[in-house]
Amino acid sequence: MPRLYLLDHGYLEVDVRFHYPLQNLATRSNTDPDLDFIRIPSFSFVYEDDDRTVAVDTGGHPDGMDGYWPGWLQETVPWTRDEEHLFESRLEQVGLAPSDIDAVVQTHLHNDHAGNLRLFADEDVPVYAHRDELEWAFYAGNVFQDPLDRSAWVPADYAHDGLDWRPIEGERGEVVPGIEWVHLPGHAPGMIGLVFTALEEPVFLVGDAAFREGNVFPETVQPGANWDHGKWANVAVPRIREVVAERDPNVVYGHDPETFDRYGGYPDVEHVGDTSFR
Ligand SMILES: [Zn+2]
Repeated sequence: MPRLYLLDHGYLEVDVRFHYPLQNLATRSNTDPDLDFIRIPSFSFVYEDDDRTVAVDTGGHPDGMDGYWPGWLQETVPWTRDEEHLFESRLEQVGLAPSDIDAVVQTHLHNDHAGNLRLFADEDVPVYAHRDELEWAFYAGNVFQDPLDRSAWVPADYAHDGLDWRPIEGERGEVVPGIEWVHLPGHAPGMIGLVFTALEEPVFLVGDAAFREGNVFPETVQPGANWDHGKWANVAVPRIREVVAERDPNVVYGHDPETFDRYGGYPDVEHVGDTSFR
């Protein structure tokens, strides 16, 4: 039977305005409002059926907070994790080693999602990502010298020789049997959402195309952090709504502290770890 493991990678912290830009506005009577630095979950998935085991994102690099990530990123979106939260540890906890992974699907290539691709270099493991994401990530990595300009793309994560990239192109399709993808540009150029169609109830991983349910339902609330706000509002959001209307899926958002506890309760989804972000 198909099964989805949610690998809990600990928590990140961000200014709440990454998610909801008009929080805590300064006003005439309060010109210096308190700002909220909030905890948000960080996770990836492993999808398993009779034919294959697929990693969906690969979490952050183990040394991310020990100097591997640029300083501004450690400062702006710090990550709190123990050894048990790391991608390889979580794999081990479900009885898997990197060598058991038959394919990798990257929703996008930001540092908290693409940090363990090195495990799949020279291993003949196909790595699927949207072509727009690959073009941007490699452009940013090669052209921008200042890490700040590279935003959350850390070239050391993905610029490995020996990765068997499989660029996917267009708007929607099937990446492997049982996993459909939909292009949701805005948070990142090649951001993709994934629908796990073979589970008892389909799961729609919106990923960082919507940090939270509150960004897309009941109405659109644009997040503060987007690569392209126009594409987010005009392309990603209508497509998220389209997939939700078509499939009536259980939806998983990218970093939502409010809906995170639900996900392990979906049929065929197993939450591996604790809700440690609290
Ligand atoms: Zn993320």
